[in-house]
Amino acid sequence: DAKRTGRGKVVVYSQEIEDKARRVTGIEQALRRAVAAGEVEPWFQPIVSLSTRQVLGYEALARWTDRDLGVVSPAEFIPIAEERGFIGQLSQVLLCKAARAAVDWPEEVSLSFNLSPSQLVDQNTSEQVLTILRDTGLPPSRLQIEITETGMMCEPASAEKIVEDLRAAGIRIALDDFGTGQSSLGRLRQLHFDTIKIDQAFVASMLADAPTQHILRAILDMCRGLQKDVVAEGIECEDQAARLAAFGCQKGQGYLFGRPMRADATAAHVHGYAASARAAFA
Ligand code: C2E
Ligand code: MG
Ligand code: MG
Ligand code: MG
Repeated sequence: DAKRTGRGKVVVYSQEIEDKARRVTGIEQALRRAVAAGEVEPWFQPIVSLSTRQVLGYEALARWTDRDLGVVSPAEFIPIAEERGFIGQLSQVLLCKAARAAVDWPEEVSLSFNLSPSQLVDQNTSEQVLTILRDTGLPPSRLQIEITETGMMCEPASAEKIVEDLRAAGIRIALDDFGTGQSSLGRLRQLHFDTIKIDQAFVASMLADAPTQHILRAILDMCRGLQKDVVAEGIECEDQAARLAAFGCQKGQGYLFGRPMRADATAAHVHGYAASARAAFA
């Protein structure tokens, strides 16, 4: 009866909470081990010119396969590393590997790397990034750091200091997932960044939805006025690419141009592109 159902629900619910907690703890332990062993890998997804389809750079995206847990998505393990306080270590392992891969790419091809909100609260972050660049020999001008609006909001003064330190060294800053965060347009005036990455949610709904198209045009107009670079994320079909290009968007990223690839496949990919670009001009 109703009472038994009610009790049943409570039991199921607490069981779910327990399962969730056990998974988080399992991921934390396995991931700490993987970080120490250097088993988390950056994969690389191309960022291209929408007009020429030339590869301008690659974004490093964390990938991890555990022996027991299998493939775990960064959308699940990055927040756990943040909450449990070892995102800094994880990030250093990833940036080292990513920078080592990127130094072998043609010098006009840049590396984009994500920093989490909690890293913008930690004043060691900029020195850690600069040390890795020195150790690997990747010029700061080839690195673009991606941060979210939410990341800039946690402790604004701390985040702004880190951004200033990175920019002073010649590293570019991109605002990631633009349009999904909490920041106001007024706040945009105060933030020092070079690039806006329009969140994939806008791209996903643009073809079927007129309001989304108006918002995209407004963002692109604003970026032109502010002289900011724009990258549209999550482009999966030619219709989206064509429409975005018609709105004045110059750069894109998404499955249409390439999925994230391992470092060795990326090296082949970038040199294939370089070769085909040379052939096109020959
Ligand atoms: P993000 O930085 O916004 O990265 C874009 C995400 O969209 C990636 O998911 C990418 O694989 C996915 N994506 C790219 N093109 C398409 C497309 O055409 N369609 C669809 N549906 N998805 C596409 P991923 O790799 O699962 O990463 C999820 C998020 O995890 C990232 O979002 C980023 O916030 C975070 N992340 C990944 N790697 C790192 C890292 O090394 N450090 C930090 N702090 N965060 C990371
Ligand atoms: Mg990103
Ligand atoms: Mg993004
Ligand atoms: Mg995103």
